[in-house]
Order: sequence, then structure tokens, then C-alpha cells
Amino acid sequence: MSSEESVYRLAIAKSESADPGQRLIGWNAQWLMGGNLVICSTCFAHQPFEDAGRSFVHICGCIAADGKRFPWCELAEILSELPPLLN
Ligand SMILES: [Zn+2]
Repeated sequence: MSSEESVYRLAIAKSESADPGQRLIGWNAQWLMGGNLVICSTCFAHQPFEDAGRSFVHICGCIAADGKRFPWCELAEILSELPPLLN
């Protein structure tokens, strides 16, 4: 298994945690953000916020291209489960 694949598998494991903080760490290992784009950290394919409801499309051969993924929706769900930041 390549180091890239090992990092990806660790990120997936964290994404499946019950702890939203761990899921956020997993999300951040799989995705990058720039402007209004979410970017696959493996193949650098990107998706604008306006397409959040569409399944993310990776570059052919990307190790992260397994199954339908909705990174914007995943991020929104994780953030909604984190404790309030302001008191
Ligand atoms: Zn990818």
C-alpha cells in the first residue's frame, strides 16, 4: 500500500468516527478549500459550492473516487454537530 493510500485510509477511518471533531480531521485530510471550491486532496479535482448537491467527480484513477461523495454536505453536517464556538 502506498503512503498516499495509507493516509487516505486513515482519513476515511476518522471520517467514520462518532466524534465530530475526529470527522472534521478526516474531512480536512481528504479535502482542501480555496475560494468557493472544495478540492480533492488526492487528485485536485474541484467542485464549486453551487454544485454542492451533485456527487463529486474525481479525476479518473483517483484513490478517493469510491462511491458517491458530497463533500459540501458532509462538511455542513460535521459543523452542525460541533459544540458552539461562541458563548
Ligand atoms: Zn480525487
